[in-house]
Amino acid sequence: MKNFKVITFLLFGLIIFSCQTEEIETELSNENQELITEEVLAKLTNMGFDITNYPVRVSKEGYTVEEDILIPREEVERRDISSKQRYLSVMTCSNARNVRIQNSLPPGVARRAYASAINSWNAVGNSLIRLVNVTSNPDIIVRSDNGSLPSNVLGQGEFPSGGRAGGLIIINTSLVLNVSQWRSTIQHEIGHNIGFSHTNMLDFGNPISGTPRVDDNSLMNGGRGGTVRNLTTGDKNALRALYGRNNASSICN
Ligand SMILES: [Zn+2]
Repeated sequence: MKNFKVITFLLFGLIIFSCQTEEIETELSNENQELITEEVLAKLTNMGFDITNYPVRVSKEGYTVEEDILIPREEVERRDISSKQRYLSVMTCSNARNVRIQNSLPPGVARRAYASAINSWNAVGNSLIRLVNVTSNPDIIVRSDNGSLPSNVLGQGEFPSGGRAGGLIIINTSLVLNVSQWRSTIQHEIGHNIGFSHTNMLDFGNPISGTPRVDDNSLMNGGRGGTVRNLTTGDKNALRALYGRNNASSICN
């Protein structure tokens, strides 16, 4: 998995998507006698159906998607839900205690969001993780993509390899975002570099036990680019599962 990279945070389409999803849920709950749960909607989305442009209808046979495709209830119910915390690889516990990270972003809004993005990970209780800001010899360098990322991608991280944090985070600095959005983006990419894959990607990464079956508000939900301000309880528990301070069963070793 050396230098395994993940394209993250498809930007605007997905931000719009998540907003629209909420509206659809509200409409559905008004129109249908039976509420279509968030979990069912998440599963249908994971199955690849467009629930944004084609509202889901429910009947006793099942769920009708994209106007004319009927999915039997059992088919939806037996599906595993994918919006769960997952990891791909970890640092050693020892390396997790001192992750040297350097801010090489150009002056601007993204650069200003960096410190608070680091602090959000350091602030999680009972975790070994300490990201330490340095100006040389970093484990992780955070820099501009210099135009290399597609225009709809916010940033890109790397997973740990050889027991060390992923070495590079690039940020699409040609995008115009506010501090909060950049903070969320940098936080998210750091999540990759310390081991987390996306909560919303089925079959990519190992599910982390002790986290919710569904956690759509997770910082590591790749479909919510730049919109998640805080780690969820599930995210914090996932961090402790990987790098718990007093946990002999931590996944790091
Ligand atoms: Zn990502």
